[in-house]
Amino acid sequence: MYRLLSGYDTVSCCPFCNHGSNVKCHINMKSLIGEASCRICQENFSTTAIALTESIDIYSEWIDEYERVNNLEDDGA
Ligand SMILES: [Zn+2]
Repeated sequence: MYRLLSGYDTVSCCPFCNHGSNVKCHINMKSLIGEASCRICQENFSTTAIALTESIDIYSEWIDEYERVNNLEDDGA
């Protein structure tokens, strides 16, 4: 399954529940999938990863996606 890479996993604030230090990011180097998930609200996000992808990149993409979806919802309202 997912292998936690030493130095590549981090914890950050969750965009959904705003709990700090509850987002875990990890990278599956075998399938090149980066995944972030929140321990509190169970929200999760996955994206393609490359060898140079770091957990902060996944987290940043998650935030971008979250904001993009929110903006779409705002536009449609
Ligand atoms: Zn959360």
